[in-house]
Amino acid sequence: MRARLAIGIDIGGTKVAGGLVDVDGNVTHRTRRDTPDRSKSPSVVEGTIVEVVTELMQSAGPEAIAAVGIGAAGFVAADRATVVFAPHLSWRHEPLQEALQRRVAAPIFVDNDANAAVWAEWKFGAARGETHVMMITLGTGIGGGILINGEVQRGRFGIAGEFGHMQVVPGGHRCECGNRGCWEQYASGNALVREAHSLFTANSPIASDLLDRVQGVVGDLTGPLITQAAREGDPTSCELLAEVGSWLGVGIANLAAAFDPGMFVIGGGVSAADELLLTPARETFKRHLAGRGYRPEARIVVAQLGNEAGLIGAADLARHSAEGPAD
Ligand SMILES: [Zn+2]
Repeated sequence: MRARLAIGIDIGGTKVAGGLVDVDGNVTHRTRRDTPDRSKSPSVVEGTIVEVVTELMQSAGPEAIAAVGIGAAGFVAADRATVVFAPHLSWRHEPLQEALQRRVAAPIFVDNDANAAVWAEWKFGAARGETHVMMITLGTGIGGGILINGEVQRGRFGIAGEFGHMQVVPGGHRCECGNRGCWEQYASGNALVREAHSLFTANSPIASDLLDRVQGVVGDLTGPLITQAAREGDPTSCELLAEVGSWLGVGIANLAAAFDPGMFVIGGGVSAADELLLTPARETFKRHLAGRGYRPEARIVVAQLGNEAGLIGAADLARHSAEGPAD
């Protein structure tokens, strides 16, 4: 008999979140643990993952667990077992699946978090019924996932979809990947914060509302805070989001030229700005689209599953890999 539940784990820079996910993509039980900055060593994070998985297995009672899916922000090798590189964790060629499998009695699959998210949005969220989907997650940086005809496209080495590092501005801002002018330097939470900082540095009066929100402590300003200020009508924050949205549209036009998908799903924390971000993105997209006016245009929509997309997708992808398609 097919197991009804799978476990999804979402690993961030400072936390491990986990959930029991049923066959319809509902999270029936949740738990999380913080992983303090000093505890980024692989063994500490792995220990935390095992704790979370064990707790979730106990809360599932006697029900069998189909599989455990781990979604991590990083490069995951095509074997779905090894984390090649994770910028926010100290994982370099880390054999995560092997390390965990010794301690967990259910099949384990590791995936890039945006790959997990595109799967979740396609099966249960904004992209249901679409055959060619590209997911763009806007957090501190940009994550990407590609799904074509019901399959996540991982590339030859597992690292496809790192859209954030497409160069959009030659000689532009330096990126942590080592290059300059990467898309995520212009269309992400970090870009919002950098632009707000430059307004502060210029002593611009138009940034006073934002500065008040952090009581003058410039270092406390974050992407989510700017997004929140924009939603509450702060004109400067709206402007910053429109600028990021504009850059988002430029990159999406590039992706349309390369992949011609039917839909772009925009997720991640910055997507909470919704139309404040998407309207300028659509406008720039239309202006930059190759062959505009003579081709169908992909839809650009906001993600539906919020910050649980990675967890839900990791669980369901793992179940899919362990048991095969549901139908
Ligand atoms: Zn880069």
